[in-house]
Amino acid sequence: MSISSALKVLCVLYPDPVTGFPTAYARSTIPTLSHYPDGQTLPTPASIDFMPGQLLGSVSGGLGLEKFVTERGHRFVVTSDKDGPDSVFERELPDADVVISQPFWPGYLTAERIRNAPKLKIAITAGIGSDHVDLQSAIARDITVCEVTWCNSVSVAEHAVMQMLALVRDYIPQYGWVMKGGWNIADAISRSYDIEGMDVGVVAAGRIGLAVLKRMKAFDVKLHYTDRHRLPAEVEQELGLTFHPNVESLVSVCDVVSIHCPLHAETEHMFDDALIGRMKRGSYIVNTARGKICDRDAIVRALESGQLAGYAGDVWFPQPPPNDHPWRSMPNHAMTPHTSGTSLSAQARYAAGVREILECWLNGRPIREEYLIVQGGGLAGTGAHSYSAGDATGGSEEAAKFRAV
Ligand code: NAD
Repeated sequence: MSISSALKVLCVLYPDPVTGFPTAYARSTIPTLSHYPDGQTLPTPASIDFMPGQLLGSVSGGLGLEKFVTERGHRFVVTSDKDGPDSVFERELPDADVVISQPFWPGYLTAERIRNAPKLKIAITAGIGSDHVDLQSAIARDITVCEVTWCNSVSVAEHAVMQMLALVRDYIPQYGWVMKGGWNIADAISRSYDIEGMDVGVVAAGRIGLAVLKRMKAFDVKLHYTDRHRLPAEVEQELGLTFHPNVESLVSVCDVVSIHCPLHAETEHMFDDALIGRMKRGSYIVNTARGKICDRDAIVRALESGQLAGYAGDVWFPQPPPNDHPWRSMPNHAMTPHTSGTSLSAQARYAAGVREILECWLNGRPIREEYLIVQGGGLAGTGAHSYSAGDATGGSEEAAKFRAV
């Protein structure tokens, strides 16, 4: 049955560029992809109201949805003011029917916020990773939670490979010498190694983890993985993968570990002092999955002691991280803000995916199974495969401590 009454669609997006909304772009087009690596089709909305390759993920970009939503008589509210009790997000929630949010600048839907949103029926993640929603509360309230599966998986895999190389080769300090006007080769290479021949492992070989393994094969490293679902034997054979039944076994043999599981009750703080203590001295961790999969202070301690030679990634907890978050200043890190999945290329796919989901939902058509995380009072689709029930939003209120500089 299609929905005819006026709805309120509340959309949380990151702020516009400090230099103003772009009027020109570095490139005029982005490549057109025919399908994702496993054959899944790209999003199939009836039409789109944006130019692929332009900024869509910030407030003025509005995911290219405003015209579509308002022409159908619904209200479209978009804000970046998302944290704390006086935020626009919290003020607008009580009569919102739909919440759209991006993991990069997550509108945390905690149990309390869900209680204060009695009309909320669907929470759409414009991206992948719906841990900013208290999944247990969504299950209890029969709220549908969905995300745009595949939309930025390869974007993240590219970022993870870049950060593995940046850490092992120690790229960031070398760039620093150029910017300082120096030519200090001995200083610049004092922590620089080749990745060739190293043992490289991924925690989870889903869409992103497998894409990372495929890309790393070209570097002549020894590849390892662990996952709660084992890959087909022919894939293991083709990539020369060693499967580990648990993460403890994986980390004990790897020089570089890249994390690619979702954040859920089972994976929260997986990398704590004990697990990091099982790694070889001088290992590297890249985490483009979710900040909270690592214990914040254990990472800092391991970098300071030398147990870890480097840590990189683009995910923090909470987001945005408070200005005094220790990962901003810990030694030997190569962190970025949460950018890997929101390249201009990825934005075109997830904006189209959100539009597809809204078209389906508003017209009473089923949302693709692979987009579903929670539906009908339980984990569904990709949610049933990759998540466990529970809540990983605890502590998200700390995001209110961030102040833009
Ligand atoms: P996916 O669903 O294809 O893969 C997830 C994999 O994790 C599955 O194979 C699942 O079996 C495995 N897994 C789940 N729990 C596990 C556990 N306890 N131990 C071992 N394996 C476990 O998802 P994906 O597209 O590969 O994305 C993975 C995650 O990456 C997302 O949930 C999100 O948190 C993160 N992500 C980050 C960005 C970014 O911009 N940094 C963008 C997209 C996704």
